Amino acid sequence: MNITVIGTGYVGLVSGVCYAELGNRVICVDKDRGKIDTLNAGGIPIYEPGLKELASANRAAGRLSFTTDLAEAVRRSELIILAVGTPPLPSGEANLDYIDQAALEIADAMNGYKIVAVKSTVPVGTNERLGKLIRARTSKRFDSISLPEFLREGSAIQDTLHPDRIVIGADSPSAAATMALLHRPLTERIVVTDIRSAEMIKYASNAFLATKISFINEIANICEKVGADVTQVAEGMGYDSRIGSSFLKAGIGYGGSCFPKDTRALIQIAGNVDYEFKLLRSVVEVNRDQRFNVIRKLETIFGSELNGKTIAVWGLAFKPNTDDVRDSPALDIIQHLVDNGVNVRAYDPIATANFRALFGKSDVVWCDGALDTARGADALCLLTEWEEFSQVDLGELQAALNRPILIDGRNVFKEEHLLGTDFVYYSVGRPSLS
Ligand code: NAD
Repeated sequence: MNITVIGTGYVGLVSGVCYAELGNRVICVDKDRGKIDTLNAGGIPIYEPGLKELASANRAAGRLSFTTDLAEAVRRSELIILAVGTPPLPSGEANLDYIDQAALEIADAMNGYKIVAVKSTVPVGTNERLGKLIRARTSKRFDSISLPEFLREGSAIQDTLHPDRIVIGADSPSAAATMALLHRPLTERIVVTDIRSAEMIKYASNAFLATKISFINEIANICEKVGADVTQVAEGMGYDSRIGSSFLKAGIGYGGSCFPKDTRALIQIAGNVDYEFKLLRSVVEVNRDQRFNVIRKLETIFGSELNGKTIAVWGLAFKPNTDDVRDSPALDIIQHLVDNGVNVRAYDPIATANFRALFGKSDVVWCDGALDTARGADALCLLTEWEEFSQVDLGELQAALNRPILIDGRNVFKEEHLLGTDFVYYSVGRPSLS
């Protein structure tokens, strides 16, 4: 197929590259000229393992190109996929300006029948509304498809090429069949629904996963008080096939560009039809509070002496293997420390530049390596479970720190790692060690 993907962010770029890998001719469009110039020069504007190699192989094979010319790309394609951002408004609702703008540009460029598929996460009813927007501008025929995306940053290529399922929301059987044919090489598990249900599947899935995370984090908080170990609890729960072991890892909560945004948006979607989603409200509240688990531990250790102390922070990205820092717990944690007179030394293997751009404060010392960050610090907080951190020599780490205090917000270390060291070790939902 000739496919245009609009938006070359974490979703659009990975999707475009993977559709090309399946043998389609793909044009990736972005209005950000800097991104397109980088891509045309053989670079990749985001960090995603394996993406650079796959993109360059498909470019070399002549199946993948990049442009800012949306109209020309639309004219040359029979399938247009929208993968632009839908960031949150202050109310929590999704900002649909980018998607509306792109839909209008598509309408103005249409030169024949097209399928217009929306991969961006959009509130229920958006595809129908976009259809009306396009129909008001052109008499050319088109079909709307909701094509929600479930990839995870950090394993996006694997997730795209080997998805658990593909969801296709359609009201045209022939367009649904075309989309099913396109995705059949990826999986047999293709769920075809009406458009509104497909839009809801995306929000319901993310809300459910967020619920699992907040649930296990509350269990962890109780474990800390009753002397149980949440990792053992989660293992014992996870073997129950009705529960499953994924998303039962206690820590300082979820972040990123999807869960926080999509949970808040679903609360708004419900609110707009006079339904109060009480459960999801609590999930969001628990998650916001959970990141302060680290701060509470620092306050217990140092009391009023925390002001003026030096705290090292490992990990700024919202999760490992990505440079995405949107709504990362590290933002709130470091802000709180800085506001309370703490000297912060921080490091991330990949995401420091993005974090600095978003954080916009200069009174943090940005470090170049894990050990360097710890030098002279009164305690170390691990906020993102990058593999690099679990491989640091704990003897050298202890020597670098002013005091051997480790607060592990992601439960990376086990008791046996700490044997033979003087570390006082705190984690989430597990007994502290000293
Ligand atoms: P992103 O912010 O990384 O990328 C969006 C891109 O769209 C940007 O490069 C922007 O310049 C471009 N863009 C905006 N308007 C445009 C226009 N009119 N024409 C051309 N380009 C335009 O966003 P993302 O993280 O890739 O997310 C995209 C959508 O996918 C969102 O709705 C998000 O909720 C959803 N989603 C994201 C993930 C994820 O892990 N990031 C996973 C599943 C779904």
